[in-house]
Amino acid sequence: MRNVRCGSCRALLFRARQNAIAGDIEIKCRRCGTLNHLRPYEPFSDRPERPKRTNACGSSFP
Ligand SMILES: [Zn+2]
Repeated sequence: MRNVRCGSCRALLFRARQNAIAGDIEIKCRRCGTLNHLRPYEPFSDRPERPKRTNACGSSFP
């Protein structure tokens, strides 16, 4: 089970199994009123996606 928390105030919204969610979810936080939009497979993270940048040549030599 994983705890799903509000992205704004970190209040516990609900708990769910890993595969319990099949589609998008919108849930309003009872504490602060923020509408949290959750998606399966990139679940419950409040961090924006940041693709890693790699050098085109792949070399780590300075
Ligand atoms: Zn909240």
